[in-house]
Amino acid sequence: QKRKSLSTKNLLQRLINGDKVALSQSITLIESEQKKHQKLVDKLITSSLPHSGQSIRIGITGVPGVGKSTFIEAFGKMLIRKGKRIAVLAVDPTSSVSKGSILGDKTRMQSLVNEKNAFIRPTASGSSLGGVARKTRENIILCEAAGYDVILVETVGVGQSETAVHSMTDFFLLLKLAGAGDELQGIKRGIIEMADVILINKADGENQKAAKQAQMEFKRALHLYPEKQSKWAPKVKCVSSLNNDGIGKVWDMIESYKNKTIENGFFHQNRFEQQKFWLYDSLNQKLKQNFYDNPKLKSKLKTYLTQIEKQEISSFKAADELYKYYLDLLNAK
Ligand code: GDP
Repeated sequence: QKRKSLSTKNLLQRLINGDKVALSQSITLIESEQKKHQKLVDKLITSSLPHSGQSIRIGITGVPGVGKSTFIEAFGKMLIRKGKRIAVLAVDPTSSVSKGSILGDKTRMQSLVNEKNAFIRPTASGSSLGGVARKTRENIILCEAAGYDVILVETVGVGQSETAVHSMTDFFLLLKLAGAGDELQGIKRGIIEMADVILINKADGENQKAAKQAQMEFKRALHLYPEKQSKWAPKVKCVSSLNNDGIGKVWDMIESYKNKTIENGFFHQNRFEQQKFWLYDSLNQKLKQNFYDNPKLKSKLKTYLTQIEKQEISSFKAADELYKYYLDLLNAK
């Protein structure tokens, strides 16, 4: 026990000294499903918390092929030139199913991987989006404790993963392509609503005209949305990640977003709301697990299901009785 706590201390010390290896090791602990590692992780996160929170957390989404990794490379290198340290994390729940990560893959961002001040970690493993998201949130805390001041959280435009990333970041960036037919077709309203900026990528060569056209259409569409709580009016910009065109302006924009929302209180309010959200989310999961993992409840549930099938009891009544049974079990303890 004593040796273990010593090693956490040591790990934490190396972590806050910005040691990349220590950061990798800590994240590997978070990924571990072993119970004994969970205790270490709890300690590590708790001790990292006072050293965290200083970064800007940026969510990035867009369909495969839109240019996320190219953008992140250009953006990351520009920030490193400015003296920043950047971490790239990913939320990709599909990767645990297909076993092949399409995000945060080190082979995708070769030139960034070799930078001393960049840290790239492929998507967390996990069987559910909730699990992956939780681990990514913890990874953010560790990266911040290790002194990374810009955290990019990348996700692919599938399912609920954007919502999860949105709920753990300060600024949300949507990458789009022009010329793919009707610009506003096939993109989920919810994603547009989350975006603080829409970047029309690959605005180079022959693509430039179409990109300008798409920019206009998105601008018009954004006007129809109600004002954001942040009071930030979402922007639409054309960029070429490949030619490094417009990338610096994206950072200027994010800085003015940060200044504005810190000034009007939204920045901190939003982070607190996110923490509240994750508290409830985590509690809900635990309560559910506690309920469904109970062996007595499991068999009771089976009995009720049979009765429901035979039309002897309604689902609602069965739920009421099961819950009562659960409370009795708790009180009997
Ligand atoms: P991801 O799947 O979203 O990460 O997309 P990638 O960054 O891998 O980019 C997909 C392809 O688009 C690659 O062949 C890139 O070279 C290309 N690409 C990315 N950004 C640009 C750009 O700004 N202009 C052009 N012309 N091609 C780009």
